[in-house]
Amino acid sequence: MNLEQFIRDIPDFPKKGIIFKDITPLLGNAPALAEAVRQLAKPFEQSGVEKVVGIESRGFIFGSLVAQHLGAGFVPIRKPGKLPYKTIKASYELEYGKDTIEMHEDAIAPGQKVLLVDDLIATGGTAAAACQLVTQVGGKIVGTAFVIELSFLHGRDKLAQWGVHSLMKFAGE
Ligand code: AMP
Repeated sequence: MNLEQFIRDIPDFPKKGIIFKDITPLLGNAPALAEAVRQLAKPFEQSGVEKVVGIESRGFIFGSLVAQHLGAGFVPIRKPGKLPYKTIKASYELEYGKDTIEMHEDAIAPGQKVLLVDDLIATGGTAAAACQLVTQVGGKIVGTAFVIELSFLHGRDKLAQWGVHSLMKFAGE
């Protein structure tokens, strides 16, 4: 199945010059969604993943499904002020702006095996910050998985130590 046909390009969203990759057609198609989850999880089926970390908000969708597929728990990483318990924070540069993310300080036990999942890797700043939070509490990252990779932004260079698994690469805008 060619999953690329379920990704819709939205020019100039959320601001001029950005081509937003809309994954909602993929989410809405049952066989495509199931295939995406299978492909995201496949390299990690024998990795003993205990927690899948997903980044707000589209990372929650794929992350939860991958967690269930792998028999792992799910940990949300959220924008500031959303998580109710004690948090740790990391700041990073985004393709369009600057942001901070938070995770509950007790979400991952030291030594737990963690897979990071998000819908898309652009500059890699968000995912690298998320990996920092996981390692800060002693989690062991076994890999990172994305539906879409904007390879012209070289985000995988920031995640080189953990490795990047992506289902589709876009080499230009
Ligand atoms: P980055 O930190 O630059 O890798 O940005 C990744 C985050 O921003 C992901 O959570 C994406 O959902 C979102 N994002 C960045 N660029 C795009 C894009 N062109 N289309 C859709 N989402 C994007």
